[in-house]
Amino acid sequence: MTNDSITEQPAPGAAASGNQSGNPVVVLIDMPFGSAHCPSIGLGLLKASLNRIAIPARILQFNLLLMERIGEEAYRYISVPNRPADLIGDWLFAPALFGPRSEEAKRRFLEEILLNRDLIPDTRAEDFIPVSDEEVARLLSCQSHIAPFLEDCVRELRSLSPRIVGFTSTFQQHVASLALARRIRERIPDTFLVMGGANCEEDMGAETLRSFPFIDAVVSGEGDHVFPELVGRILNNNPLDGLDGVLWRDGFGIRIPAVGSARVPDLDSLPLPDFDDYFIAHAASREKLPSPALMLETSRGCWWGQKSPCRFCGINHHRMSYRNKSAPHALEELLFLTERYPVSWITMVDSVIPPAYFRNMLPKLVGQTLPGTLFYEIRPNETKSRLKLMRDAGVHCLQAGIESFSDQVLEVMNKGVRALENIQLIKWCRQLGISIKWNLLWGMPGEDPAEYATIAEVIPWLTYLEPPVASGRFQLHRFSSFFEETEKWGLRNPRPAPAYYHVYSLPEDSIRNLAYYHVFDYADGRDVSAYVRPVWEQILSWWRVAENSGLFMTDTADRLIVFDLRPVAVRPITVLKDLPRYLLLACEGIRTEAELRKTLDEMPLPGPPEAELESALKKLQDLKFLLQMDHRYLALPLPLGEYSPPAALMQRFLNVLSEQGAAIDGSCLVIPTQ
Ligand code: SF4
Repeated sequence: MTNDSITEQPAPGAAASGNQSGNPVVVLIDMPFGSAHCPSIGLGLLKASLNRIAIPARILQFNLLLMERIGEEAYRYISVPNRPADLIGDWLFAPALFGPRSEEAKRRFLEEILLNRDLIPDTRAEDFIPVSDEEVARLLSCQSHIAPFLEDCVRELRSLSPRIVGFTSTFQQHVASLALARRIRERIPDTFLVMGGANCEEDMGAETLRSFPFIDAVVSGEGDHVFPELVGRILNNNPLDGLDGVLWRDGFGIRIPAVGSARVPDLDSLPLPDFDDYFIAHAASREKLPSPALMLETSRGCWWGQKSPCRFCGINHHRMSYRNKSAPHALEELLFLTERYPVSWITMVDSVIPPAYFRNMLPKLVGQTLPGTLFYEIRPNETKSRLKLMRDAGVHCLQAGIESFSDQVLEVMNKGVRALENIQLIKWCRQLGISIKWNLLWGMPGEDPAEYATIAEVIPWLTYLEPPVASGRFQLHRFSSFFEETEKWGLRNPRPAPAYYHVYSLPEDSIRNLAYYHVFDYADGRDVSAYVRPVWEQILSWWRVAENSGLFMTDTADRLIVFDLRPVAVRPITVLKDLPRYLLLACEGIRTEAELRKTLDEMPLPGPPEAELESALKKLQDLKFLLQMDHRYLALPLPLGEYSPPAALMQRFLNVLSEQGAAIDGSCLVIPTQ
């Protein structure tokens, strides 16, 4: 596309927002517990697609309406859960869909799901603080808001009397959407009700249509092109057959087409998302919300997963096929939308940044001033120069699929990266001032329990780096390879996560079709918690000490001074000369033993090269400055200059200096002889 093609499109909100009565023909609804802090990219795109064909549409932010009533803190607690498979948001709306529940059923949910820390042993700092009585009371008090909230939603819809109401359902929006849809059917019966979003993919969508007769149609997959077509046919009373991914109900029953999920082949054909309704609602909200974020996309699918997916990855195989926007299109969109919508954070929802953007998009962002931090997901085996480019382009936060520090476990996952590359990435991010979000997963079928003893030994070396956001046993997601071929991978008896049975009053088969999160047994009966415990304990310790931990170095041309403020430090200040100094500098990026050996030929050494090398490598490893995995080496200290320690760490460093009898004299560091 040319740069002009963006300006050829109507700006967001350019279509008339109403019919002759001023009311929208189509209302799109963002129900609780969709994020209150950013607009739904899916709905923004659908509204813009309808704008293009001059169909008046409006997005109603009912998520913000409930957030105002239960408070931002409670809303965030539910909408950004530590354990998504607990389905707390869906559980809150369940009585509004299935009828009142008994006190006994409530008690069982609290005991078996909410307060049960062993159910799915995720490890986050918060998980070790038991859910407090206050949190339980606050959650239960949210229940009293649900019925009046739904009444107000119906009242507003009645006043707009749209012909079509569309719901997006991702994460915990399913039951809230269905509860409102049921009321719309009862009170505004002529409205056509359609649902889409990740919770409606394939079997989940078919079951939604089957189990909830008030829903007229479901869109499975990417609705960008097919939804406007569907709307046109409904308005013109045309048959709905032959639309990719559209399942519908007619007088004869449920129609499930042979064609698969809908998919957009050319992302440049998409319009600019229209987020106006969200920003108007956000500005008008009674609850004072922080500055909103923007979710944008530059690609769909995953180029790695398309050829060889990670085995735990729950991205549907249709969605996995990789497509990206052309660089000029992506750049123009980013600049246009961030100028139109004032935000402090821009999340690119891509599974992984398009590789070509390192050549043709990011260099053009260098020197531009974006209003907020840019966030992208990356593969872990990035080069340092590409990380620097991302930082200079405004990408100050990254997420990477690190998942493990064991080559064997990474292989079982089919991650296509090695442990030392993972550690190198976390190190370089700290060095370059980029925040990196990552998780440590365990419990893969086929993983070697002995690997966890090694991981537990490595973690104390790394406490000066950004710790994982979360750690825990991997979850069995629908569509993942582990789910699709459970037996092959050594898993047994996959079944919906227990919370589904507390939420859905439906037959077993229906619950199985609706569930995304699953639990399972190991075919070999392994006790994961037992062998993972040492890692778990080290991660808890990492969270505690990360802020005060540091490891950095400065080179004076013939001496390398390493400052070690890790709990595992052998000593706080070490001066290295000759071969150890040379090796530590040489291993700034991963080096093989063979590469290091080659360089010895260029150096004057006092003894036989092999013995000198072995002794220097051992010294650096004894000091925990040099990490060795599989005959490859990585230096851990961060070079001052490229890395600047935060003020609190610097103060700690000065205190340690003075304890050691060292001091800063003018521009010189005076340290006692070692
Ligand atoms: S986990 Fe990430 S890298 Fe792996 S297949 Fe899924 S999206 Fe791709």
